[in-house]
Amino acid sequence: MTPQLTANKKIAIIGGGPGGLTLAKLLQMNGADVTVYERDEHKDARSQGATLDLHHESGLAALQAAGLMDAFKANYRPEAGYMRILDKAAKIQFDENINGDDGFNRPEIDRGPLNTILLESLAPGTVVWDQQFSSLAHEGNRIRLMFKNGTAVHADLVIGADGANSKVRPYITDLRPVYSGNMVLEGTVYDSANIIPKTHELLNGGKIFALGDSKTLVVSSKGDGSLVFYTGSSLPENWPRESGLNFSDKEEVTAWFKTEFAGWGDTWLELFENASGPFIPRPQYCMPLDKSWPTLPNLTLVGDAAHVMPPYAGEGVNMAMLDALELSQCLLNGAFKDIPTALAAYEKQMHERFAEVGKETLENTRWMHSPEALSIMVDFFSQAKKHQGSA
Ligand SMILES: Cc1cc2nc3c(=O)[nH]c(=O)nc-3n(C[C@H](O)[C@H](O)[C@H](O)COP(=O)(O)OP(=O)(O)OC[C@H]3O[C@@H](n4cnc5c(N)ncnc54)[C@H](O)[C@@H]3O)c2cc1C
Repeated sequence: MTPQLTANKKIAIIGGGPGGLTLAKLLQMNGADVTVYERDEHKDARSQGATLDLHHESGLAALQAAGLMDAFKANYRPEAGYMRILDKAAKIQFDENINGDDGFNRPEIDRGPLNTILLESLAPGTVVWDQQFSSLAHEGNRIRLMFKNGTAVHADLVIGADGANSKVRPYITDLRPVYSGNMVLEGTVYDSANIIPKTHELLNGGKIFALGDSKTLVVSSKGDGSLVFYTGSSLPENWPRESGLNFSDKEEVTAWFKTEFAGWGDTWLELFENASGPFIPRPQYCMPLDKSWPTLPNLTLVGDAAHVMPPYAGEGVNMAMLDALELSQCLLNGAFKDIPTALAAYEKQMHERFAEVGKETLENTRWMHSPEALSIMVDFFSQAKKHQGSA
């Protein structure tokens, strides 16, 4: 039998998001010596974003391989598949639980519980918190990793899973994510049942897509009783700085919404007026499609670090987890003679997959922010419902 390529190797993963944690689990359960270095000070250092739908061929396939389907089934939210498409006046145009009766078509799970499932499946001490990666140096066949707090470690294989603004990426490629033209502004309302009961009812435990005037507003319920919402509109890349807005000032941001989304109903305004904590501007970037880089012998990327893309196809987390699955398979399945060859095979399929998924994502981003967005989306889901009904 071919010895595993990971035997006697120290593997370092930078970043403990869904991509990094899934990879750590898949490698560790197969005997690899793996450590995750995470920037956050501890598990609950920041509130985790909205609900994510996992797809059978990607996110769920990775959880299945990691032996975590039972944990997933105990934590997913069947009711969260409930989807309403509304116009800017908050009139319902489409209304359906798109997840089927058991909620398992594209089952939804909150980001917090997903991370918890992955974290709790790892051996104690696998994740080292408060380790913000700052730089690396190649030393012979090994890599020296330096962290902002002054500590340093050596590893034989390093995987950057440090998200959209990856600090590992520049050590691998000059390719940079390109601004998509779409700006997201994210906010949260806690205890929505009591604070904004009408919108809470409208959400029905699921998601709302509001479309109009070439803009979007997505509202998503969470299992902890809060809701997360985000606007999408066409704004310059440097708008967060140049707008002069103080994103911690609710009045200022609400006034901006009234102007930017002029003519939208009071339902939407209520979200801003009742939001807690700072709003987060998120310019949406996409890595160039159909581009790759020469594989390095002991350094690669997974997830957003490799191929950040806007959220409008719901693929980001699924691709991060599928990267983890495919990379672990290349390292563990005995088909490759050494780590560089395994990394080359992984990167080839990852680049090819992203070329397709990234294209679809950019197409979705464009039409969802076009004047015809509402009718396109309602038609799409109505047709899908008809097909489901006739299947
Ligand atoms: C508003 C919004 C909505 C979205 N909705 C969806 C959706 O519905 N479905 C979907 O599939 N995807 C969605 N996404 C995309 C999804 O969140 C990402 O694709 C996914 O989280 C990528 O996982 P990751 O593990 O690669 O990176 P991340 O989740 O970004 O994790 C990266 C980790 O690395 C850590 N880190 C960063 N820098 C360092 C450093 N220097 N040193 C150490 N650690 C570091 C971070 O703290 C973090 O824990 C959405 C994104 C946004 C912004």
